[in-house]
Amino acid sequence: MVAEVIINRTAKKLNKTFDYNIPIDIEEYITVGSKVLVPFGNGKTLEEGFVIKIKEKSEYEIKDIVKIEDNLEIKQIELARWMAKRYFCNVTDCIKLMLTPGTRTRNKEKRVQSKKINTIYLKKDIEQIEFEIQTKKIKSEKQIKVLEFIKDNEGATLQEIELFTDCSKAIVNTLIKNDYLEIVEKIIERDPLQNKKISKSEKLELTLEQKNAYESVEKSINKNIYKTFLLYGVTGSGKTEIYLQLIEKVIKHDKTAIVLVPEISLTPQMLERFISRFGKEEIAIIHSKLSIGERHDEWEKIRNGQAKIVIGARSAIFAPIKNLGIIIIDEEHDSSYKSEVTPKYQAKEIAKYLAKENKCPLLLGSATPDVTTFYKTEQFEGDESNKITLLKLTKRANNSSLPEVKVIDLKEELANGNRSMLSMELYFQIEENIKNKRQTILFLNRRGYSTFIMCRNCGYTVKCKNCNISMTYHSYENKLKCHYCGYEEKIVSICPECKSDKIRYFGTGTQRLEQEMHKQFPSASTIRMDVDTVTKKNSHEEILNKFKNENIDILIGTQMVVKGHHFPNVTLVGVIAADSSLNIDDYRASERTFQILTQVAGRAGRENLPGKVIIQTYNPSEFSIQSARKQDYDMFYETEIAIRKQLKYPPFCDIILIGFNSESEEEIKRISNFVYEYLNKKLINDEFKIFKPMPSPIDKIQNRYRWRIIIKGSMNENANQVLNNCLKEIYQKNLKSTRISIDINPNNMM
Ligand code: ADP
Ligand code: ZN
Ligand code: ZN
Repeated sequence: MVAEVIINRTAKKLNKTFDYNIPIDIEEYITVGSKVLVPFGNGKTLEEGFVIKIKEKSEYEIKDIVKIEDNLEIKQIELARWMAKRYFCNVTDCIKLMLTPGTRTRNKEKRVQSKKINTIYLKKDIEQIEFEIQTKKIKSEKQIKVLEFIKDNEGATLQEIELFTDCSKAIVNTLIKNDYLEIVEKIIERDPLQNKKISKSEKLELTLEQKNAYESVEKSINKNIYKTFLLYGVTGSGKTEIYLQLIEKVIKHDKTAIVLVPEISLTPQMLERFISRFGKEEIAIIHSKLSIGERHDEWEKIRNGQAKIVIGARSAIFAPIKNLGIIIIDEEHDSSYKSEVTPKYQAKEIAKYLAKENKCPLLLGSATPDVTTFYKTEQFEGDESNKITLLKLTKRANNSSLPEVKVIDLKEELANGNRSMLSMELYFQIEENIKNKRQTILFLNRRGYSTFIMCRNCGYTVKCKNCNISMTYHSYENKLKCHYCGYEEKIVSICPECKSDKIRYFGTGTQRLEQEMHKQFPSASTIRMDVDTVTKKNSHEEILNKFKNENIDILIGTQMVVKGHHFPNVTLVGVIAADSSLNIDDYRASERTFQILTQVAGRAGRENLPGKVIIQTYNPSEFSIQSARKQDYDMFYETEIAIRKQLKYPPFCDIILIGFNSESEEEIKRISNFVYEYLNKKLINDEFKIFKPMPSPIDKIQNRYRWRIIIKGSMNENANQVLNNCLKEIYQKNLKSTRISIDINPNNMM
């Protein structure tokens, strides 16, 4: 027999297969999906590959497969191929997500206590490294092996690298010296649940609302049919209790469950609720803090059927679980379900694929559902299988009250001569809180690079006349630009609305806020959490624990502070400038603002202490802020969906981003123009709006030019084919340096 094998090497991309003979002695173990070692080229080194087809014979003279390393299911290979087409990437990149991490693991390390371990990460951009491998700037086989290993595992220790790649420390050191890799101290925490005795919890008697929701999903489980549900209910309305009881039901049917949560919400508290109901043996937990050996163990536990429930972040959707009975995605609106690196998949789409295949329900849960998800529960016309069934919880299960939310108009503060970052009200509340030994969280959403421009007198912001999206200040050219359509304007110094000269460029960060706090409250203790204080995927937990355990007065942070933890002593939450998330140049600005404000508000006063939330803004009447104040999703949704419809943004179309990067300005212009012309010819014009190629908002990174084309329209089979064909045609052009990526509905348009 003969196997068609895809070679797993960046340098040999293109989804091309090679034939290999299957030696008789391993024939019965090889299936589609096997990971194998094969000789390649001059045959001196062995390459890793995946069997994607088995056939009788080959028309070529062929070599033998040397060894089988791992087996995937045929279904997984099918999924990988589906993904490669849908997300415009290589099959091997998709297959890698499904493989057992660290297949060749030998000895497991013992870890008893929390400790700091030097972990090695990629320092350069993944795409840059892949490009250098393709263009032979990086030539050493061993260096490539190390880089790919670290990429696949999102970081590894030196010991792991030596063990799995058979490369020496010297190779790693060379890569560090040449700035490809960096060492970061990562905290390996002792599994906080390891020795803890967790008592069994019994299921609660469901309220009437919960019962109705439960029974709808239960029907789909009993009848073995695929259906997507949206469980929409405020925090504390009892969504998790419903998840638990549905999983119990599924397990009774001898089936299994996947539960996805945002990485940041995978806290011990959250896991404890599942473990106390089902016991630890039946649960596999997958998250980025596990070592490769531990990830391997969890994967094995799933594969051999011991684990019936998989709980994890985005990539846990690829766990090798059999006999799925339900998929649950909590906080379904969270942007972390969309991968921003290749393959640029949306976990909700993968979940839908799997739920259909397994004929089981997909349950999405949120207190602030994604506008696109909610839309599919109501006016949706078209393919019936895209429809989502809405399940609503309107009351809090334990009758705790929602916090009091107050909106402060910063324009008035300014008129009263207050030029500081704190309104009078917020200042007094913080002072009061410090006095009473209660804790405060101050939230300032300063992510992103762009500075936005606003009139401090009337709240006017400069928006693009075509797109209704905030224009961004480009200091280099001293111009305002629309990041969607390329429209440009001169910078203004007089407000076009009110003619005042109070136009300001905003860009205050958390750091300045912390300084200000020290000045205004010298005796108060503060702690700051943002990308500068949180190093590569650690210390997030550490900072929050410190805040909680040492009773620090004020936590200052970006949106990292809004999720996961439960702080019983926090009674005040202040939002310094709600406008900064409103004025990001993204059509989801209002949605993000509403979600963030609602989540931030949920941090205040969660036990028996009443909570207070103060939102400072220059746009107090803006609908997303008003809806957040009333904690009224329906009000937010009605307004937002009307705007989306009028301006034709998702869910009324998809946004397709074609990104180009290149060392050559000439080539990037030529290629992006080629793509533009090609698509204009091949895509049906009245279904797709194709914007001209133009430089990306961040138009140069590491000396590579960046351009992009944006397309608005509904992705369909035909458009997918056109785009895939276009890529094929370009790759035959022997490009000197330009690389292309396609992203559907990206989180980030930069
Ligand atoms: P959500 O997931 O929507 O935030 P939870 O399921 O965590 O809500 O429920 C919030 C609180 O209410 C929890 O303490 C939970 O134990 C409690 N709770 C949930 N359902 C019930 C119920 N039917 N009866 C009594 N308490 C409940
Ligand atoms: Zn003005
Ligand atoms: Zn525009």
